[in-house]
Amino acid sequence: MSVTITFLGGASTVTGSKYLVQHEGKRLLVDCGLFQGYKQLRLRNWAPLPVPPDQIHAVLLTHAHLDHSGYSPLLAKEGFNGRVYASRGTRDLCRILWPDSGHIQEEDAAFANRHGFSKHAPALPLYTRQDALDALPLLKAVEFDKVITPIPGWKATFRSAGHILGASSILLQVAGRRILFSGDLGRPDDLIMSPPDDAPQADTVLIESTYGDRIHPKEDVLAELAPALQRAAKRGGVAVVPVFAVGRAQALLHAIHLLKMKGELPTSLPVFLDSPMAVHTTHLFEDHPGEHRLSHQDTRALTRSATMVNSTDESKALASRHGPMVILSASGMATGGRVLHHLEHYAGNHRNMIILTGYQAPGTRGATLASDAKTVRIHGRDVEVNAEIVQLESASAHADGNQLMAWLRTMPQAPDQVYVVHGEAGPADILRGRIKHELGWRAVVPEQGSTWPT
Ligand SMILES: [Zn+2]
Repeated sequence: MSVTITFLGGASTVTGSKYLVQHEGKRLLVDCGLFQGYKQLRLRNWAPLPVPPDQIHAVLLTHAHLDHSGYSPLLAKEGFNGRVYASRGTRDLCRILWPDSGHIQEEDAAFANRHGFSKHAPALPLYTRQDALDALPLLKAVEFDKVITPIPGWKATFRSAGHILGASSILLQVAGRRILFSGDLGRPDDLIMSPPDDAPQADTVLIESTYGDRIHPKEDVLAELAPALQRAAKRGGVAVVPVFAVGRAQALLHAIHLLKMKGELPTSLPVFLDSPMAVHTTHLFEDHPGEHRLSHQDTRALTRSATMVNSTDESKALASRHGPMVILSASGMATGGRVLHHLEHYAGNHRNMIILTGYQAPGTRGATLASDAKTVRIHGRDVEVNAEIVQLESASAHADGNQLMAWLRTMPQAPDQVYVVHGEAGPADILRGRIKHELGWRAVVPEQGSTWPT
């Protein structure tokens, strides 16, 4: 019997990554992510999976970002009782991210109920903080480059993918087939993460395509960030930076620290990291020294380069401060978290600045801000946007089109089939075309819910 892959997410969209691999009645999910962005995408989180969770035998996570791991607590709540295999870095990050995700969902539901703007009465969280805590014991840490057996007869190997702490590509071997999942691939020139490992030999490859249509600018993040922050500081403005708590927050802190050291920003410029999760993650860099480019001194400097804001009271107190200052706060696409309060408070003033630091999925507030919209909807009301919007093209944690192609070229031999996943329809199709024409390999963009033999 053949091995099949069903694309339950991450197909013609960047979120909801979930790839179901089946063989002779055994089933495994590679990634178990939440859909984010457009309402119709988020609604997919509520639809039952085509297979009951108690009939899935194991989960392998490429990395901790919620669009790859955040569905796991729900899977567990609905009856999944297998193991969730992840690198040590990913496991440590999931311990921070999942309970926070449950907490945010509870808060959003409570807020919607209090203010009566939910069309559903009462609004419910997808899962709670407690559900997330209950799912954590399922996590099982694996070492990079070591073969594990998630199901008898199935083998999996995790390899470093750059991108964020713990991020992996996964090679799965079942019934003589070798299936390679790229996961999210970092860029070789990332400010803080190591470059991805070369791709091993495989018959089938699933490759991400977030920036499949793009080439990153040559300019580095320091060169882009310095003039923006100088401008905001000069007019006494507040720079609000929505950051992904895991990864970009640390890269931005490091960049600001370097700019202060080089004398390009005044050392007195106040910087706040207002995300307990990002604060936690920043400390994790000290626990995983081999997985990133930061030296011991760099990681120490990172934790001292900003005022770490922990309590909600401290966070609220920021609103009574005047600029110049920089506030880094999650979430990175402004879909939730404390950054919403800062945007609500500071977006209206033209002296202020909003700096977008990474991929902004369509339908998110981040994408709205990136499109130079005059208003953005926060907490059920339209907030005026007069602040300067800056998009840091160079701050992405994803490989660009050329870098994705370069990673594929490291494979010792051509695979039989490439599936282009984890990209909007446009970027995915452009990468598919490049793989077909430049490498001569078979490549398709699978549809959501479709099943393919491998
Ligand atoms: Zn990611």
